[in-house]
Amino acid sequence: RIAYVNGRYVPHRAATVHIEDRGLQFADGVYEVIAIWRGLPVDLGPHLNRLEQGLTELQIPMPASRRVVAHVLREVVRRNGIGTGIVYLQVNRGVAPRLHTWDHGLRPSMIATARRMPSMARTVIEDGAKVISVEDIRWKRRDIKTVGLLPNVLAKQKAQAAGCPEVFQVDGDGMVTEAGASNAWMVDQDGRLITRPLGHEILPGITRRTLVRLARDAGMEVVERPFSLEEAKAAREAFFSSTTNFVMPVVQIDDAVIGNGKPGSVSARLRALYLDYLNGLTPD
Ligand code: PLP
Repeated sequence: RIAYVNGRYVPHRAATVHIEDRGLQFADGVYEVIAIWRGLPVDLGPHLNRLEQGLTELQIPMPASRRVVAHVLREVVRRNGIGTGIVYLQVNRGVAPRLHTWDHGLRPSMIATARRMPSMARTVIEDGAKVISVEDIRWKRRDIKTVGLLPNVLAKQKAQAAGCPEVFQVDGDGMVTEAGASNAWMVDQDGRLITRPLGHEILPGITRRTLVRLARDAGMEVVERPFSLEEAKAAREAFFSSTTNFVMPVVQIDDAVIGNGKPGSVSARLRALYLDYLNGLTPD
């Protein structure tokens, strides 16, 4: 495997960053995970937009032009021969003696890796996923895709110990913010898709964005409003969306079985729409 580190393509096992990289010492950086489908990056433009927005919020300069960043990502995908999988990109503020404050002249570090993920190609999800609810203990700028993921790590580890692949995170008002590494959705009794509106409370998922568009184009009603954990437990369907899961039906939240305990038809339709979208992508 080949990785990209600060201007070089190197063997994965020899790919290292400096011990005083601020990404290591302060989680002072942002990242993107971009799906690769039939060798093509999915929604690359929106991912680069979100990267730029996060960097701007943190006052970190882009490590290179968009064109160069895009080239590096394609090159990492090509050099690793990825057909179905992901490319990971991380940009940190840079290397400096450990001090909380930073100097504006720092050169950002940029790393990229790629990995095969054949499981993404499953067209039908037969069993769906069980999730547990956890208190959302993260900070108040969850819209920034920072590498400071300890709350997510702890939540997902707790889920794994309970035999669940995901969590639904719940804020102090009992409302679902998002999942551990995906956006949370429910389907109400009228068949409407419900998902929390964008804001500082959730990550603006790229899959969420594409799904909202695909659903509306297909005549499905999407309502962007907060929903409570109780509402989700009583919903007709629930699911979560992300770069690696696309649309993953939820069949149980804590002890509450969703619908008849099988993936629902709205989730299945949305997943099919998303797969059609992926299969229709062309190189740009
Ligand atoms: N929410 C969180 C906290 C995430 O970590 C992720 C992805 O990793 C998402 C939502 C989904 O975002 P995307 O669809 O861009 O993968």
